[in-house]
Amino acid sequence: MKKIVNERNFIMELISLQKQLDQLDLNLASITYAQSLIFWDAATAAPKNSVEHRSLALTGLSTYYYNTLVSESTKKCLDELERHHSAMDTFYLSKWRFIRDLYNELAAIPVDEYAAFKGLQAKSSAAWEEAKKAKDFSIFEPFLQQVIDYKRRMIQYRGYKDHPYNLLLDDHEKNLTVVTTDQFFDTLREELVPIIKQIHDNPPKEVNPFPIGPFTKEQQWSFSKHLMDLLGFNQDSGILALSEHPFTLNLSASDVRITTHFYENDLLSGVTSTIHECGHALYEQNINKDFGLSLLATGTSMGIHESQSRFYENNLGRSMNFWESFYPQLVAKFPDAFSDYDLEDFYAHLNRVKNTLIRIDADELTYSLHIMIRYELEKAIFENKLEAKDLPQAWSDKYESYMGIRPSNDAEGVLQDVHWSEGLFGYFPSYALGSAYACQFEAAMKKELSIEDCLKDCNLAPIKDWLTDKIYQYGATKTPDQLLIDVTGEPFNPKYFLDYLKNKYTL
Ligand code: ZN
Repeated sequence: MKKIVNERNFIMELISLQKQLDQLDLNLASITYAQSLIFWDAATAAPKNSVEHRSLALTGLSTYYYNTLVSESTKKCLDELERHHSAMDTFYLSKWRFIRDLYNELAAIPVDEYAAFKGLQAKSSAAWEEAKKAKDFSIFEPFLQQVIDYKRRMIQYRGYKDHPYNLLLDDHEKNLTVVTTDQFFDTLREELVPIIKQIHDNPPKEVNPFPIGPFTKEQQWSFSKHLMDLLGFNQDSGILALSEHPFTLNLSASDVRITTHFYENDLLSGVTSTIHECGHALYEQNINKDFGLSLLATGTSMGIHESQSRFYENNLGRSMNFWESFYPQLVAKFPDAFSDYDLEDFYAHLNRVKNTLIRIDADELTYSLHIMIRYELEKAIFENKLEAKDLPQAWSDKYESYMGIRPSNDAEGVLQDVHWSEGLFGYFPSYALGSAYACQFEAAMKKELSIEDCLKDCNLAPIKDWLTDKIYQYGATKTPDQLLIDVTGEPFNPKYFLDYLKNKYTL
């Protein structure tokens, strides 16, 4: 009898602790929701002079977030839940682990520094934008140095294993280290550089110049919306807007916002950006709705997220099968430019391999070199070998050595990406990793589904359904490692990426 009473008490206690965890999760997710809306507004609509007060508001909200999470009652709840592990289901175990990691991360940092950094991010992003427009790094440099200093202090507060940069890698991709990233990039360098050189030395035959429009904003907008429908984006649970640097923002699975950009004389940039962001959005829109407004209702890591955007952008969106089906629709939208233009020439332009300066416009083969450059610079920053003032020169030197080209100004060099202004160090490797994950997932998908048939039938729904079933629905309840094993039957293996590239780019 006593045993039954004890068990009942144990279960009652567990239910009460889980309720407490749910409430904490909802409170944190609600503050994140408000912060995200401010971020969206800043990137798409807010006037120039809004930055000072936005920075204050973000400092205030971050203090609130910190104090909501880092408290004696949270610590007690997390500790007590640990004692109940054996009785918890996988959802609550994931939630517990997620919030415990967050707690450990923040509790190590003084609240004032944490909140001040959130305010600094807003100012630093605005300074970056201004500097990029003016092509003048000196406007951004003092802010970037402050961001770097904060990140270095944060690494000391939180502690690290083996290399300070490991902590930043792990923040974006659980368990990623300098050792594994070095290995991955060494393999890529070894295999890809000879292929790139071969293409460079034996360029493919010249094709007809790509139409340069002008393509009006209205035409491109309407084609982007059409592409979104085609890929399965739910327009009632998301919107499209314009921004200089395309991105996806998820408020919840029912409100996922993407941006793209349009250039009057460059149609492909907008098309590939829309497809890329749509890949991110499909992930977020198809997370299990039962998760509600939870911190777990988001993609599990940056690498897995990029695997989805880059799968849609490259594996599908730069394939001949895709355009064989959808090219007539592009021609119908832009008849003046494309009715007499060959699909083969279109495909050749879409996949042209060229050493270029701008990462987001890079082809699939040289893309990873752009990432390696950023990775090496970041690693050097956190080995205290580089300061903000050194970066323009170091950046240009790396482009010269990797690509044989040098930026003519800061906007096409060190200022091209927004990430550093927000302190997103350790983020870039997830792009290359994402491209590789995408190919590993694609190989698993092909065992169960004919992608070719889906494209032939102009029906991408089975692809989205497969991804929802295997990846999307789980949100952040599975770690990247676990997801890879569950979906593909093996841990991360770059072989699939290399096979894909060799198959596509060598004879
Ligand atoms: Zn992306």
